[in-house]
Amino acid sequence: MKTSQLFFPTLREVPKDAELASHQLLVRGGFVKSVAAGIYSYLPLGWRVHEKISQIVREEANSFGGQEIHMPVLVPKELLDESGRSSVPVLFALKDKNERDFFLGFTHEEVVTDIVRSFVNSWKQMPLYLYQIQTKERDEPRPRGGLIRGREFTMYDGYSFDTNEADLETIYRQNFRAYERVFQRCGLDYLAVEADPGAIGGSENHEFMILTESGEDTVLRCDSCGYAANAERAEIPALTSAEPAAPMESSVVATPGAHTIDEVCSFLRVESTRLIKTIVCAAADGSVVAGLVRGDRDLNLPKFGRAVGRGAVELADAATVIRVTGAPVGFAGPVGLADESVEIYVDNELMAGGNYTVGANQNDAHRLNVTPGRSFKVKRWVDIRTAVAGDQCPRCSDGILADARGIEVGHIFKLGTKYSKDMGALFQNDLGEKHPVLMGCYGLGVSRTMAAAIEAHNDQNGIAWPISIAPYEVAIIVANVKDDAQKSIGLELYAALKEHRVDVLLEDREERPGVKFKDMDLIGIPIQVVVGKGLTEGVVEVGLRGSAEGRTRIPVQDAAVHVTELVRKEREKLG
Ligand code: ATP
Ligand code: MG
Repeated sequence: MKTSQLFFPTLREVPKDAELASHQLLVRGGFVKSVAAGIYSYLPLGWRVHEKISQIVREEANSFGGQEIHMPVLVPKELLDESGRSSVPVLFALKDKNERDFFLGFTHEEVVTDIVRSFVNSWKQMPLYLYQIQTKERDEPRPRGGLIRGREFTMYDGYSFDTNEADLETIYRQNFRAYERVFQRCGLDYLAVEADPGAIGGSENHEFMILTESGEDTVLRCDSCGYAANAERAEIPALTSAEPAAPMESSVVATPGAHTIDEVCSFLRVESTRLIKTIVCAAADGSVVAGLVRGDRDLNLPKFGRAVGRGAVELADAATVIRVTGAPVGFAGPVGLADESVEIYVDNELMAGGNYTVGANQNDAHRLNVTPGRSFKVKRWVDIRTAVAGDQCPRCSDGILADARGIEVGHIFKLGTKYSKDMGALFQNDLGEKHPVLMGCYGLGVSRTMAAAIEAHNDQNGIAWPISIAPYEVAIIVANVKDDAQKSIGLELYAALKEHRVDVLLEDREERPGVKFKDMDLIGIPIQVVVGKGLTEGVVEVGLRGSAEGRTRIPVQDAAVHVTELVRKEREKLG
């Protein structure tokens, strides 16, 4: 490809709505064009990167026996009714001309389970691993950061089908390994962490995180034992000993106008660690439960749901809060609830100390000196707060967790029989008995990985693509195309590199050299070859983009071999 023909509309200005580096650079480099919030067209450079990542994923999936299929974007509602997922909030829903309900596929467990239940009925047909690389649609409440969180995006989604736990474990580990290989080959530092299974359900699951400051997720890890988990998921060991505080007399005090924890703290002149937050929630069965955590902590809803054991819990709506507390929203407390049947779950941490300040279930009032278990009945002591840096490691006794920011680029699950039971995907074992198939699902965001790679690799001049996923490996920059010698050497080198199977871009536009260097830096081609004034001395200059060592002068006749060798070395670094 020659830049004189390449369609890559680069911009000097940073797009107004783009906060993340990857979003800015994808737009500025002419990789993508925004169509609507969270929806993008890929332009030629962007699509090349997309396809390189897809190809790496495909090769790794094929390496352990994956078979590629392609399922539709349009999914009939009945299929999602079977698994109970037709009311998932991010679904895009539509009707056809005959008023039949459809969804745009947000992930394809139901569609693939329907394939398998139709054709797989014997133990002899498994293990089976099917995958696709396909467009997904999700009406994300907050599309952001360009390709990081789109409403339309590309996912590799694989699905495993097995007859027994050992085989499921094998395929899970194979996928785990394949994910590691994918991120290594893409030149990305990743961390696999234990994660919350979320809406998909199932048991063991891991997220793959690219560690960068701009990541949305917090991960916690222990340097002593290697434990790593999404902060949403990380467990917190229960206190082994706690000193009971001497009882103090409880009283209600007026706290006019103080609604938030900060306002209450400054009004009463206490630290937030001396407060208890009482969070009224609704369980999936409709019952109302209260979760109590220290004032400076966050209630973790997935953990709380597991602790209550009646399906997912959500924050209760205002009407419910008013009904059970007998007070406006913002003053809930565990003592004197209007509805005394509300079960109160208390975070383990509150075993320590006592004499806390809580909401008084009255407008503009708080209650002082409240101690769980003494001042009110505790249904159960539980681990329901979100872990933070500094917490003790749940796996080893002496580690302390440290935090980092990450972008979730992959998520793998052992689903077990959730979908096969719901949808009747059964097989006959060698004794002729029928059992539900054991499933796993494995999702990797291709488009998100593309953006995460930029978050991890950029500088003030633009993108620094790892060579494996760069749109081109080498840019030959002809400084002055009006100079016949430069032009013809440029063309010769271009032909020779193509011959050597190097992905090469010839920068042959009639622009000032400065503009060309800027653009090649911006779009991030990893190896740059400059054909310029040095030609009068018989040399071209070869160097890595942004390298501190600068460029090396190489005799023209050696240039093709030298550059090919450099490409080979750079490729090898990524394995
Ligand atoms: P998130 O927590 O970021 O919303 P998720 O947990 O809903 O993602 P999964 O259902 O696990 O995502 O999807 C598998 C992979 O697909 C994710 O690890 C991520 O790489 C990618 N992905 C999910 N949602 C998006 C999105 N809106 N835009 C781009 N990629 C996405
Ligand atoms: Mg996920």
